[in-house]
Amino acid sequence: MSSLTGRTALVTGGSRGMGAAIALRLAQDGADVAITYVHGEDAAHEVVQKIEAMGRRGIALRADAADASAAGAVVGRAADALGRLDILINNAGVGVLGPIGLLALTDVDRVLDINVRAVYLASQAAAGRLERGGRIISIGSCMAHRVPGPGGTLYAMSKAALSGLTKALARELGERGITANLVLPGPIDTDMNPADGPYAQSQSELTALGRFGTADEVASMVAYLASDDARYTTGAEVLVDGGHAA
Ligand code: NDP
Repeated sequence: MSSLTGRTALVTGGSRGMGAAIALRLAQDGADVAITYVHGEDAAHEVVQKIEAMGRRGIALRADAADASAAGAVVGRAADALGRLDILINNAGVGVLGPIGLLALTDVDRVLDINVRAVYLASQAAAGRLERGGRIISIGSCMAHRVPGPGGTLYAMSKAALSGLTKALARELGERGITANLVLPGPIDTDMNPADGPYAQSQSELTALGRFGTADEVASMVAYLASDDARYTTGAEVLVDGGHAA
């Protein structure tokens, strides 16, 4: 029996990148998985097909994290569709970088709505729906702790907010055996941050391992935190950054 047999999970932003890798890994470990997407309907359905090919249930739900009502309501939609909810992965996020003087109010609102408010609202909804022993795992960023150059004010601020949320959730939900943890990836090769992009070389050089990570390497850590093996880990921030912070 796999470690997540009988469990169900919701992964926000599961159509591409790390979210897709996490959804597939949780399914591989035995979970039924719902994912959200906004634009990538075909990509989301491909992920669902791969989940179903593993013999698990897969569901794609369109839910824009920028929409406050959709961001919270999707947790109930997933729990209703899957019959229960054990694991919430707050993965959907956007990266808006640039000099502070050039970032518009619309940029500030969009990044905070998606990277912070949606995570709060989904976690709030999950607090009401998660089974005993449930999991809330959010995807932050190594930039919450170490910003290696200019242009990161808005993004780093948004990801740093998840640190306080995660610790407070751990305190609030611990009584029910529910853990809340934050994964901090370093540079990971996805559409958001391609390993052959214009800033890739300098990012690789900032890591101890001298390379980008893969979405699967982040998914491995998420799968561990979702498993019963990690039941005594909560309120933690776990780096998967190739030594970016070393
Ligand atoms: P990608 O841009 O490759 O994928 C983003 C995913 O999120 C897609 O599935 C996309 O769906 C979805 N998404 C985007 N906007 C929304 C929205 N408003 N509502 C719901 N879903 C949305 O990103 P990554 O996989 O690289 O990033 C995943 C997470 O990891 C993010 O939180 C990011 O900030 C964080 N991160 C990334 C790093 C990196 O180097 N790549 C480093 C550190 C952290 P769709 O295609 O349908 O729009």
